[in-house]
Amino acid sequence: MARNWSAALVDCGDGPTSPPPDIRKLTTGWIVELDAALSADPFDPSPACRVGAEMVRSNLTAPAMMTPTAAVLTGLLERASSPDRTQRFGALLGELARGYSTELLEVYVRSQEVADQRFRVVFDNAAVAIALYDSDGVTLEANPTTARMVGMNPEDLPGVAGLDLMHPDDRDKLRQVVVDLYQRKHGTEYFEGRFCRPDGSVCWGAWTMTLVRGAGGRGLRLLAVGEDITERRAMQRELWSQARHDPMTGLPNRLCLREKLQAIVADARPGDRIGLCFLDLDEFKVINDRYGHRAGDSVLAEVGRRLDATLASPTVTVARIGGDEFVALLAPPCDDDAARAVAETMLATVRHPVPVGPGDPVSMSASVGAVVTPVAGADAEKLLDDADLGLYRAKAAGRGTWVLHRGENGG
Ligand code: GH3
Ligand code: MG
Repeated sequence: MARNWSAALVDCGDGPTSPPPDIRKLTTGWIVELDAALSADPFDPSPACRVGAEMVRSNLTAPAMMTPTAAVLTGLLERASSPDRTQRFGALLGELARGYSTELLEVYVRSQEVADQRFRVVFDNAAVAIALYDSDGVTLEANPTTARMVGMNPEDLPGVAGLDLMHPDDRDKLRQVVVDLYQRKHGTEYFEGRFCRPDGSVCWGAWTMTLVRGAGGRGLRLLAVGEDITERRAMQRELWSQARHDPMTGLPNRLCLREKLQAIVADARPGDRIGLCFLDLDEFKVINDRYGHRAGDSVLAEVGRRLDATLASPTVTVARIGGDEFVALLAPPCDDDAARAVAETMLATVRHPVPVGPGDPVSMSASVGAVVTPVAGADAEKLLDDADLGLYRAKAAGRGTWVLHRGENGG
């Protein structure tokens, strides 16, 4: 009987845990115990409960194991002689199943506790922020990294609405992302936004948000895993700015000017006009040749500073778009008079002597090509080309002057 039982148990043992090597000894002992219990006087079914528990402790937990086990017990029943053996057999089978399932449940609970402990260690020490919110957006749990990001104590976070910690300008975006997630009921959403800390500082966070079932499968919870991206954002902003500014003068460069122009084109209403005044220093190479490239640099920086100081306003942008080329962009509304005023101011600004090296300040002149043109539907590059043509004509006209160029579209 023990041989058959062992063989059957080994056959069932292809699951995650394999039967123990001394299975024959175990089954022999269990059969002796069960046999004794079946005919003991008075009858006590508890040994069967113990056998069931030992089966679990011996890793004999494959679902198919109960069938050969019941078959063994049937074999004992056939040999038993007590008049109430059928009831005893039923009681033994029941106790064996109870011992087996109770032990299995305990093993499961213990493994859950281990998993919970492991999760708690990860949760408390993770470099990433982990937080759980209920369906109203109220914090249920938040780890210390989350608390550091929002500038609060971890124990103060439960009960706080996640939205209340966000920068007011980012709340609508977050609300929308969460509403979308709850409507879909699955998937993951990515969100970048700012937290306003109680000390007044701002922290940028990037969050991946997923819906998970609450404990016991009740209700949906929002699990957010995030990181502090304040430094990354600052670096990105710095790179973005560097790519759009001329390091020598600090003025917007050609890329920046084109983007501003494109933004004006995109927002323009019919009839809106812009002005572009292209300035190029006359005979600037002579400064370089006479005083050296470094002195030439300081002259360019001074010209840029002066043009910006005299012209820049919410409607006028001054940019350096090339070696000795500067541009004033006049946002709508703009007319010929406004462009003339800017072009003449540019020429006058450059004419003021500029200190170069130890000697006397040098006087310079410049030429300006201007264009005033309708902007709705225009091509930004074409507008810059038109102003460049005006500059070419101003140079051809003898330098030191400005020319208003009429573009193809009536500008
Ligand atoms: P024009 O009257 O025709 O404008 O003559 P120009 O001598 O000013 O020559 P042009 O405008 O064609 O060329 C500008 C010169 O400026 C070319 C180059 O030697 C010089 N340059 C360009 N970028 C820099 C710079 O960053 N620093 C210095 N020092 N010189 C520059
Ligand atoms: Mg020049």
